[in-house]
Amino acid sequence: EEKTPQDVLKMIQDENIELIDLKFVDPLGTWQHLTVHKSLIEEESFSEGVAFDGSSIRGWKSIHESDMAMRPDPNTAWIDPFMADKTLSLICTILEPRTGELYDRCPRAIAQKALDFLQAANLGDTAFFGPEAEFFIFDDVRFDQTENKSYYYVDSAEGRWNSGREEAGGNLGYKPRYKEGYFPVSPTDSLQDMRSEMLLTMAKCGVVIEKHHHEVATGGQCELGFRFAPLIKAADDLMTYKYVIKNVAKKYGKTVTFMPKPIFNDNGSGMHTHQSIWKEGQPLFAGDRYAGLSQMALHYIGGILKHAPALLAFTNPSTNSYKRLVPGFEAPVNLAYSQGNRSASVRIPIASNPKAKRLEFRCPDATANPYLAFAAMLCAGIDGIKNEIDPGDPLDVDIYELSPEELAKVPSTPGSLLEALQALEDDHSFLTSTGVFTEDFITNWITYKIDKEINPMRLRPHPYEFALYYDV
Ligand code: GLN
Ligand code: MG
Ligand code: MG
Ligand code: MG
Repeated sequence: EEKTPQDVLKMIQDENIELIDLKFVDPLGTWQHLTVHKSLIEEESFSEGVAFDGSSIRGWKSIHESDMAMRPDPNTAWIDPFMADKTLSLICTILEPRTGELYDRCPRAIAQKALDFLQAANLGDTAFFGPEAEFFIFDDVRFDQTENKSYYYVDSAEGRWNSGREEAGGNLGYKPRYKEGYFPVSPTDSLQDMRSEMLLTMAKCGVVIEKHHHEVATGGQCELGFRFAPLIKAADDLMTYKYVIKNVAKKYGKTVTFMPKPIFNDNGSGMHTHQSIWKEGQPLFAGDRYAGLSQMALHYIGGILKHAPALLAFTNPSTNSYKRLVPGFEAPVNLAYSQGNRSASVRIPIASNPKAKRLEFRCPDATANPYLAFAAMLCAGIDGIKNEIDPGDPLDVDIYELSPEELAKVPSTPGSLLEALQALEDDHSFLTSTGVFTEDFITNWITYKIDKEINPMRLRPHPYEFALYYDV
């Protein structure tokens, strides 16, 4: 049910709230926030926005034109569980203050435009998304955050540079065995209580919670589940998910990472993303074709697979992402689809209820900005539907078991962030011709990623280079 500005103002009054925390997502996918006194929030704030200086946000405006406005969404109101003074949290979209239009570099605005495009194309009125973001809970991590240092490394309680474990001060007798973290009871699972607190705290923040469990990897890999939701709500929920998980972990003296491959040679963390299109309350992905899908759903898959190399520049946007997309760790390496087969990058989960008919794109990871990633996936799917892109035959064998000749016929995921960015440079009209992403946004994204992530990474000696070359 939609909330109005009046509902929020009434809540502020009724609950005696003094402070409002305005949160917004930056292009890289991190929440930023500004806390204001209730006197600064009135009915107009929900249309015109609240002014702020956007000059120092990564990937946004230069100093010359730093005035911006953030417009809170009344549907996102919850009391922030991590603030000592009772504070109402509101998630915002960024506006150009002069025109009041959506700022075209605001990820939440881009997500809105993707939905507008879906509706304008008359293909559906809602797109549902359900992300499953995995993460590791570590005792701690040590790295040098200053830009001019050349050497930084992850340190763990086990004393190896790239691994972690679950219990401070020992308890190794109950450590999960390699690849057997999914999912023995306690005492092997030592993170039950922390995950429960994470899940129940999320519920207080408007997220419809479903489950939590340990994941396959040792070293504290976990996953919590929340209910799928319309695109923007799903992205908002994912931001809340990360915020709550990190802050609860911090209470326990732990840290959390969503980076896709923090531990060499063990499972990485994905963010499988379930998706479907609906119209007038009817699921449009259910039908009588392969795996109970509709022709529309198959074309959507065709669009995802065709544009996957470019898409990954948004769904897998870190250099670390490509250390996860390798064979042997339940992460997809090949661009194919299948029912049930978890080695395919698009999986169609078994669902007897047509309302649950959906596809699961298994490539994404949680270094993605969910607004950009969901918007880009929706654009790729819509492109597939509009151009009736045939996804080819399903791959109903374990792709990891195929012979080299058979495997050569299946296209694979890009091998690096640079490859994905190059694919995006060559293939982005499915994002820009729709008016969802601007050409400026795409160019800025590619340049930012190369200048601020790929090159700095390339220029630094890697810890493993010490093992290879130190005594040469
Ligand atoms: N961790 C796996 C990945 O990287 C997924 C494991 C699972 O949820 N089955 O995608
Ligand atoms: Mg799951
Ligand atoms: Mg999982
Ligand atoms: Mg999954």
